[in-house]
Amino acid sequence: MKLQIFRDGALESPWQTGIKETVSDRQSGNVYDVLVIGAGITGLTAALLLQQSGKKVLIAEAYYVGFGTTGGTSAHINTFADTTFGEAESAFGEDGAKLFAEAIREGYDLIKTSQKDCDFEVRPAYLYAENDEEVKLLDEIYEGAVKVGVAVAYTDKVPTPVPFKKALLWPDQAQFHPLKYLNQLQDAFVAAGGIIKENTRVENIESKDGLHIAGGIRAKHIIYATHMPSNINLFNFECAPYRSYVLAVKLKSGKYPEALIYDSQEPYHYVRTHMIDDEELLLVGGLDHKTGHEDPEKAFGELEKYVREYYSVSSVKYKWSSQYYVPVDGLPYIGKMPMSANGIYCATGYNGNGMMLGSVAGKILSDLILEKENKYEKLFSPSRAKPVDSFTEFMKENADVAYHFVADRFGIHESDSLKPLTPGTGKVVEVDGQKIAAYRGEDGEIHALSPVCTHAACIVNWNGEEKSWDCPCHGARFDIDGNVLTGPATKNLLKIGEIEKTDQKR
Ligand SMILES: Cc1cc2nc3c(=O)[nH]c(=O)nc-3n(C[C@H](O)[C@H](O)[C@H](O)COP(=O)(O)OP(=O)(O)OC[C@H]3O[C@@H](n4cnc5c(N)ncnc54)[C@H](O)[C@@H]3O)c2cc1C
Repeated sequence: MKLQIFRDGALESPWQTGIKETVSDRQSGNVYDVLVIGAGITGLTAALLLQQSGKKVLIAEAYYVGFGTTGGTSAHINTFADTTFGEAESAFGEDGAKLFAEAIREGYDLIKTSQKDCDFEVRPAYLYAENDEEVKLLDEIYEGAVKVGVAVAYTDKVPTPVPFKKALLWPDQAQFHPLKYLNQLQDAFVAAGGIIKENTRVENIESKDGLHIAGGIRAKHIIYATHMPSNINLFNFECAPYRSYVLAVKLKSGKYPEALIYDSQEPYHYVRTHMIDDEELLLVGGLDHKTGHEDPEKAFGELEKYVREYYSVSSVKYKWSSQYYVPVDGLPYIGKMPMSANGIYCATGYNGNGMMLGSVAGKILSDLILEKENKYEKLFSPSRAKPVDSFTEFMKENADVAYHFVADRFGIHESDSLKPLTPGTGKVVEVDGQKIAAYRGEDGEIHALSPVCTHAACIVNWNGEEKSWDCPCHGARFDIDGNVLTGPATKNLLKIGEIEKTDQKR
């Protein structure tokens, strides 16, 4: 039985409900000025700006508009970021930190000025500390923000039931409905003559005589707006993939905070309110961990326990998770794709700030292609020299990759026969000495795949909540039939062939 896939996972986010899917599928044998791969916030922003500047642009999307992380985001629009301005200053100097703050602000403004009917609402944001260690961090965040000119103040009033010691107020932050926004960009792009090809996965790019050919499409420039560029590349070593979790719950009290509220725990929690189909919902999220490393069921369980501890929850309406990438030195990589032919661009490593950074990346990449100057080009250059401080982080993330490559392959993890596999669950098991990624459908049928990730040959792990096979090395993800859900892989897991239906009662 085939599972319904809502986005890059089997769990539905509220952004998908009631959204039309307009698809313009008019391929021609022409040479395009730009091929944009991926239709999330980065791809659509870049494509629209380029098309409106007179370029002929085609977007190729593996599934459909908003399938990736933009369809699983929590859609906060901030003037601050996960990499604090203090951290940015220590790695890139005071000017670098100021420029980073300007880029975040520019991304915010791009959304604010272009959005229409996207549930855009300006809200105050609060960040609070619950112990002395967090207070110290909060003070550093305050100082860093003041230094780069970002508005922030201390406050003793936070609309949260959680007891706190100290708190910051960031005025005029915002939230919106990310898929309504993408649909708006899509409509404007198509109205300007742009073409979107959905269900079109690009596996590789061939470059010859100044032209690039990808999936049969010929273009002068190509943008990897795939969140993580496909296949083996430098970013597999410079960005670490993380899963992050969100619940949307109804409250018995009917009282929903009109604010964006974050704690300072590690991993952290946040809450905000959103109206979906005339119904107020409290979004609670966080509990991030590296993809394929921890138990998603446990993360959802802990998130629900957390929200029930502080709020009177009447029901959980939605739960979903999605993926983001943490850059080794704290800043995103936006610009010319390193070690590639001229005319290939990429944008990745946004941390949890891709609404602003994806928007500003669209502007940076369109400027580069239009041969206009852009003040962020050097700071975010994917070929930038790595600050020394980031080396430790680099070693930490990649030591972990090496561990999984070896340990998972040689069976340090428990492997088992197919027998204990209950319907609806999956596991890497051993059958006749061969490792198999096996999923038993609700009808008892086994879907058997090779567990070797097609990206860099690590062994995938089962994600029971999203019904996917997740690679612990670089974050590629596959559905129960082995189809790629999330890059950097572009090839499906190998099917082992039908294994006889096994009787559960045997
Ligand atoms: C749970 C969660 C909450 C978040 N909350 C926030 C927030 O509140 N604020 C914020 O600013 N950021 C947030 N982020 C981060 C933000 O959502 C992302 O950084 C952003 O959505 C990335 O957008 P994108 O367009 O670059 O990538 P995506 O939206 O992932 O789009 C990439 C597209 O490329 C397609 N694709 C991939 N490979 C190929 C291929 N080979 N061929 C064709 N198509 C391909 C995919 O199908 C996908 O549709 C959050 C992230 C997570 C995980």
